[in-house]
Amino acid sequence: MRVRIHRGAHEIGGSCVEVESSGKRLVLDVGRPLTAERGEYVPLPDVAGLAEPDPSLVGVIISHSHQDHWGLAEQITTGVPVFMGEATSRILAEAAFWTTGLKVEPTAFLRHRGSFEIGPFRVTPYLNDHSAYDAYSLLIEAGSRRLFYSGDIRGHGRKASLFDQLVQDPPVDVDALLMEGTNVRPENDGPRHLDTEVDVEAAMAETMHGTSGMVLAISSGQNIDRLVTIYRAAKRSGRHLVMDLYTAAIVSATGNPNIPRPGPEWPLVHVYLPLWQRMRVKDAEAFSRTADVRPYRVYEEWLAEHRSEVVLLFSSQSGPTLAKAGCLDGASAIWSLWHGYLAEHSGQRLLRFLGDNGIPITELHTSGHASVADLQRLAKAIGPRRLVPIHTFGATRYRALFDNVCEEEDGAWWDV
Ligand SMILES: [Zn+2]
Repeated sequence: MRVRIHRGAHEIGGSCVEVESSGKRLVLDVGRPLTAERGEYVPLPDVAGLAEPDPSLVGVIISHSHQDHWGLAEQITTGVPVFMGEATSRILAEAAFWTTGLKVEPTAFLRHRGSFEIGPFRVTPYLNDHSAYDAYSLLIEAGSRRLFYSGDIRGHGRKASLFDQLVQDPPVDVDALLMEGTNVRPENDGPRHLDTEVDVEAAMAETMHGTSGMVLAISSGQNIDRLVTIYRAAKRSGRHLVMDLYTAAIVSATGNPNIPRPGPEWPLVHVYLPLWQRMRVKDAEAFSRTADVRPYRVYEEWLAEHRSEVVLLFSSQSGPTLAKAGCLDGASAIWSLWHGYLAEHSGQRLLRFLGDNGIPITELHTSGHASVADLQRLAKAIGPRRLVPIHTFGATRYRALFDNVCEEEDGAWWDV
């Protein structure tokens, strides 16, 4: 078995790995680089069979629903077998209705520790803890060699038990470990502690307690772990959670009844429709979407009246409407995304709006990726013959942190 990383040896985002054995090839992730502008065309990685049919390409596996791992998949020529988690395929189809997503009919679904064969490859997915729902690490076996691809992984989220399970019962006899290192960067030297989702929940509850008006939570609708954190903090502080229809649709796509959503089992959850979502429903004539949530829908008048009892999943497009209706008197905002997004256009717009309306903002967030200490636990448990950095800007730092490190370059083949 041999491998080449197409993108990711020295980059976070746009991951793509090609694996070859007995003349057949398998691709792990076809991500869109995070550096690409919105709408910018990015060519497919140079893998035979992605753009033009080639029978030696036996399949593409998408590890999870983040665009930097699937974003170029819609350019793949028809007929290539695609594999991903079942919830992932539903989430991507739902996201395609609202914003950016992927509509494909996967050949088969990934299932936790359920092995299957694709050509000469035996694949075993490991459901893992990450900020994307239904994310997997992958064990690839062929010709008596074993490659383990971490995908994006962490050990401090709401599914930390999956990470512990992997460390306690890891794949054995692994020849090569392709391990993400999003948090391998100079400022994280040493076994620095990252807040857990539980820590974030406690801090959020405190901010919510200390706010007289509405709490505006800014997060990603696809970060289901964080949604649960926000819901639990809202409940602890005696507040209702008001989500938008897009987030409610993503929750529904998870197929997991334990995630809060508008419905009879969740009396504290309501739904509010920002203008762009009402327009989307109207344009698509998808009126069953609004009919389904009618009993749980709230409007500006209700939000203004109940502002001291509400946490609202917020985006700045709705800001002026909510301000005009008196919803934001005494409000505070919680930024629950990566800090760097505040410097981008939409982050700047949000900061301007909050500043103009005298709304204080608190950052309460934790990484979707493992701390260096957890990566060390993982690497030690698996004990690979060689450890290859991926999804990182810190490849050159790996040697000081892990054993058997072997840096590989984008585009270069290496034997497992
Ligand atoms: Zn990810």
